[in-house]
Amino acid sequence: MACPGGCGNIMRLPLVSNRRPHWSVNRDWLGRPSLSPSVHQRNACRAHFWIRKGAVTWCRNSGCGHP
Ligand SMILES: [Zn+2]
Repeated sequence: MACPGGCGNIMRLPLVSNRRPHWSVNRDWLGRPSLSPSVHQRNACRAHFWIRKGAVTWCRNSGCGHP
């Protein structure tokens, strides 16, 4: 998927559990994906967001998703 932060990067999230870091995807009954944990781009754009039910939810504080 393309980064929603606007930098144009194509993100390749490793979903394979034997690699770290990795993300897990859960789909609801409509097939909408939710990603866990949040995604934090480490490039210049520094986008930090969740994907919940197929929609991007922005993190607005630094502690979000990282207790
Ligand atoms: Zn970006």
